[in-house]
Amino acid sequence: MDSQGKKMLESAQALIRKTAEKMKLDDEMIKRVIEPEFAHEFALAVTMDNGKRKVFKGWRIQHNSALGPYKGGIRFHPETVREEVQALATLMSIKCAVAGLPYGGGKGGIVVDPKKLSKTELERLSRAFAARITHVIGEDIDVPAPDVNTTPEIMSWMIDEYQKIKGYKSPATFTGKPVSMGGSLGRTEATGRGGLFVLQALLEKIEDLMPKFFDTVGTPNPKSAKNLTSSSLTIAVQGFGNVGYFFAKLAHEAGFKIIAVSDSRGGVYNKDGLDPVEVMTFKKKKGVVSGFSGKRVTNEELLTLPVDILVPAALENVVNEKNASKIKAKIILEMANGPLTEEAYLSLSKKGVVIVPDVLANSGGVTVSYLEWVQGKAGFWWSESEVNQKLETMITRAFEAIWDKSVEKKMPLKQAAFEVAIGRITSAMV
Ligand code: NAD
Repeated sequence: MDSQGKKMLESAQALIRKTAEKMKLDDEMIKRVIEPEFAHEFALAVTMDNGKRKVFKGWRIQHNSALGPYKGGIRFHPETVREEVQALATLMSIKCAVAGLPYGGGKGGIVVDPKKLSKTELERLSRAFAARITHVIGEDIDVPAPDVNTTPEIMSWMIDEYQKIKGYKSPATFTGKPVSMGGSLGRTEATGRGGLFVLQALLEKIEDLMPKFFDTVGTPNPKSAKNLTSSSLTIAVQGFGNVGYFFAKLAHEAGFKIIAVSDSRGGVYNKDGLDPVEVMTFKKKKGVVSGFSGKRVTNEELLTLPVDILVPAALENVVNEKNASKIKAKIILEMANGPLTEEAYLSLSKKGVVIVPDVLANSGGVTVSYLEWVQGKAGFWWSESEVNQKLETMITRAFEAIWDKSVEKKMPLKQAAFEVAIGRITSAMV
């Protein structure tokens, strides 16, 4: 992970530099967009259940605040390193700018395997982390949230610790809280739902680029935008967790045909279509999706199935130089963070595959976090359908700006997303 973290940071910074140079930004401005504004690094001494103290390494990296308070999750992972946290903070600045949110980017991390802690140890560690960052966060400074291995319950401990130290309530300082503590309705499904809104907006645009678009993968030739969002289009989803499951469920409800899904133990393929709710019921009983009615497929096989739309929603770098040439999908919706390597991205883009970048496709989560923050600041709560409507308006608007830039400059959506984001960030910097 050490070198993986470094590679991740280098590639995020290289992408920003390349884009900024193309935009003809001067060297000083490029440095300011690349370097973090603050990097807090610390050791936390936590008393374990056996009475002994254990030291955990942690970071909160605040990358850029030109557009607003830093925003980003806190991950608990045994292999996280400073470079990884910095890369993720950098990408949060880009994602928030792409999504049109009044936020900069930040990220936190602790080197820990939370599965090896008891619940009380986990609570003490979470509180120690919150206490350590209390003086550098706040609703108008830096707004943390959950990330890998952190949950609404962990946020509830952190905000409780923060408020005890401050001596007043500040529900907008953390997002991803339980609804009972000021969390937003609709947050659980938000990332999957946002991905579906982006996909639907894209399909409306590329209707004009038809009619042959989907022919090569053997699906009926769609005749109208209506058909495009109907059962004529097939989807394979890798990952059946928070993002993958809700995306698959909502896409199925919207009329798409989900023909394959997978989790870490393998997948199921049924060319006649799967009902994600039934697959989830099966998974809850058996622990896996593989074995549900259909053909068993490996995660590798799922990626290369003859589908219209591929949705990697689990891990990074799953589409790479080894399998890129075998991908048959015409659209890839990056719901996981960084599911395509740079090499795979370049070769698939060249082939004409439409790749919707992660900074746009999975920005529904941070968009509803923003709505949670607004509600917390205002002390006023929206219904779930109001939250969903606002998400649709905001993420569709974000998509339109990227699409327009991509058409205007004849560039892929990922490059357009970075240009739009860097343009927004630098124009807010004095
Ligand atoms: P999750 O832990 O809820 O689910 C992950 C899923 O991936 C599980 O079904 C797991 O079985 C599966 N998986 C693990 N290893 C796998 C493997 N080798 N092959 C195939 N599947 C495997 O996580 P999540 O919240 O759904 O996040 C998934 C991705 O989306 C991550 O990249 C995350 O960073 C990104 N993301 C999540 C959110 C969010 O709001 N949850 C927001 C933006 C981005």
